[in-house]
Amino acid sequence: MNRERDSVDAGEPRASFGFATVDARAKQGLVNGVFARVARRYDLMNDVMSGGLHRLWKDELVAWLAPPKGAAPYALLDVAGGTGDIACRVLTASGKGARAVICDISAPMIEAGRQRAGGEQRLCFVRANAEALPFAARSFDAYSTAFGMRNFTHMEVALAEAFRVLKPGGRFLCLEFSAVEMPLLDRLYDAYSLTAIPALGAIVAGDADAYRYLVESIRRFPDQKTFTRLIENAGFERVRYRNLTGGIAALHSAWRL
Ligand code: SAM
Repeated sequence: MNRERDSVDAGEPRASFGFATVDARAKQGLVNGVFARVARRYDLMNDVMSGGLHRLWKDELVAWLAPPKGAAPYALLDVAGGTGDIACRVLTASGKGARAVICDISAPMIEAGRQRAGGEQRLCFVRANAEALPFAARSFDAYSTAFGMRNFTHMEVALAEAFRVLKPGGRFLCLEFSAVEMPLLDRLYDAYSLTAIPALGAIVAGDADAYRYLVESIRRFPDQKTFTRLIENAGFERVRYRNLTGGIAALHSAWRL
């Protein structure tokens, strides 16, 4: 499977949009279109297509993050936070001092998240691009992102922004679909994801193409070791990863020291 992502063609920067290669300047608009279409059914569809597995993977992220239980201030930034699943889980696992900012570029995803969060005072939503975060340098204790990174046009810019907004001693965690590292599972997973997920997307969210993009974009995302190097290139240290369900997803952890 070709995991090449970006290229330059006749001087024009190109980016992958699923299996297609598009003008890099057009990619974000296409991604925004996908999430505007699925926002209302996004949470339901996550459960349906992963059989609930995404909940276990997100719990792994929270367990590895191990947010503090006390009353001391603790600021989390969850980027590409969508409907707020990760931020809510982190707040549930942390003490009274924790606050979370959910940052996402999609107004419909944020709207779905606001409805779901109700009046939770420790949460706030900010609409912004992961590649140009509207936050001061060194302002967060932790930066998390789940299933967002592969949608960004310039991942290295988003990683540099993650590094910039973290305090020294701050923690970076990224949960993303990855490269399956178990022989039989990889073929089963390919068959399931490339055919069944778009079909489920058509039934549950009324949009096969959106879910075809989501599956194809997984195949364009760098494998575990390549992504480790990208994180290191952004300046992070102690970069480690854990495979989840044989590498269907992977959790990368790093520190700004
Ligand atoms: N983190 C949530 C979760 O795990 O359920 C949502 C993940 S959803 C697959 C990807 C999210 O990335 C969408 O809400 C989308 O709007 C957001 N996104 C895509 N490009 C973005 C960008 N450049 N900056 C911020 N958010 C972005």
